Amino acid sequence: MPELPEVETIRLALEPHVVGRTFERVEIDDRRLVRPFEPLVVAAELEGERVAALERRGKYLIVRFESGRVLLIHLRMTGSLRHGPAGKLGDDPYRRAVVKLDDGSDMAYRDVRRFGTWHLLEPHELEDYLARRLGREPLERTFTAKRLGERLSGRRAPIKAALLDQRTVAGLGNIYVDEALWRAGIHPLREAGTLDVDELARLTRAIRDALRAGIRSQGASLRDYAQPDGRRGRAQERFRVYGRTGEPCLRCGTPIEKTRAGGRGTWYCPSCQSQAASRSASRPSRSSRQSSV
Ligand SMILES: [Zn+2]
Repeated sequence: MPELPEVETIRLALEPHVVGRTFERVEIDDRRLVRPFEPLVVAAELEGERVAALERRGKYLIVRFESGRVLLIHLRMTGSLRHGPAGKLGDDPYRRAVVKLDDGSDMAYRDVRRFGTWHLLEPHELEDYLARRLGREPLERTFTAKRLGERLSGRRAPIKAALLDQRTVAGLGNIYVDEALWRAGIHPLREAGTLDVDELARLTRAIRDALRAGIRSQGASLRDYAQPDGRRGRAQERFRVYGRTGEPCLRCGTPIEKTRAGGRGTWYCPSCQSQAASRSASRPSRSSRQSSV
């Protein structure tokens, strides 16, 4: 938390307010945000930079400046960004930084747990920095079942753990991995390297569908995440499986169960997402699904 849909929602909301604007004044009140660098030094470097584009890669927000430099923001567990007219954002004990823009508005960064990071990178540093940490973008055409299969090939870790690894595919976290595996009918503890062609195709589509559903609902507000105007997201009202322990599966009616996979609380339907690793039995047939309703 926040995952790709939350970061993309923030990007979409901020883009019209920050692109073309200049960072007039920057206050960074938390040294953890920019370490190992000094907050005053980073703030001074940022002042005067004009925003050329606001992009996203995985869970990273990329502020691209006209100078070619880049501010790479990762929200980690509880980071979020707010935007509003200067001085109108109200007091917030968890505000860690404020950027005053040249149109008289403020972009404020808040973070309760303080795991978020701001990295100012030189033009040549970005590509390599991201390439070492991230796999393909799941909403781009280059993300295919074949390429996902290549990433999972030979891996003995549970599929849930493999998908949480940002180098497998960028942007997924605990929520949207569970949602995608439920949509694909794949058990979270299945050995990642054993998925067959059909399962890989279903999983590729399911990852895209789960993420797009999250974006359509403006992200999930379980704890701290909110949109830049302060409104909560609504994706949590539409989860198919995440957090629904004991509630009926929306596809077959079987009570949803909770387990642990990849070190994280994990929700799944024991009927639709059978653990049987045998290829044909990895998903119940139509008739068995109907009979279990
Ligand atoms: Zn089910």
